[in-house]
Amino acid sequence: MGDNRMHCEVHAATGLVIGVRQVLSPHCDDRPRGMTVDLLVLHGISLPPGEFGGPWIDRLFTGSLPPSAHPYFEQIAGARVSAHVLIRRDGEIVQYVPFAQRAWHAGASQFDGRNACNDFSIGIEFEGTDDSPYTEAQYLAGAALLRALLKTYATLSVQRLVAHSDIAPGRKTDPGDTFDWPKMRMLLA
Ligand SMILES: [Zn+2]
Repeated sequence: MGDNRMHCEVHAATGLVIGVRQVLSPHCDDRPRGMTVDLLVLHGISLPPGEFGGPWIDRLFTGSLPPSAHPYFEQIAGARVSAHVLIRRDGEIVQYVPFAQRAWHAGASQFDGRNACNDFSIGIEFEGTDDSPYTEAQYLAGAALLRALLKTYATLSVQRLVAHSDIAPGRKTDPGDTFDWPKMRMLLA
């Protein structure tokens, strides 16, 4: 069996992933005082929908998406949203928000009877759609990042790793049925 595991490291004091591209987003704020971060939320995103590789996710998360660049952007250009991290199709990790800060990824949401999941979660986007397979590079990079987070923050656990669709059912469907949860869990084991 080959070892195709990637390695990734999180700097606990700054809440930054070491050695990855940082595109810091203004779409974040402080978590409520004393809040324990104990939920990992996986998302899927592509901009425009179904297209990969462009600069538009960075632009959306930094509040600089040009509404005129695509008809779809007119609807979302003013959205003040972000995630902590994006895993691109080629496995590149991009960070927008330090983990200690609250990123604005979940919206109206509930987990285990608690609302406002942004307060106590880390949000990780995978570039993709609900109906196309995510890439091998994304599983490897995503698993490396998740292992690093689990190692750095003792309050996180694989039992509390969920889809956006799990915490906002009826409103959100990402990362979609094509996300291979058994594969991801195997890579985390
Ligand atoms: Zn989402």
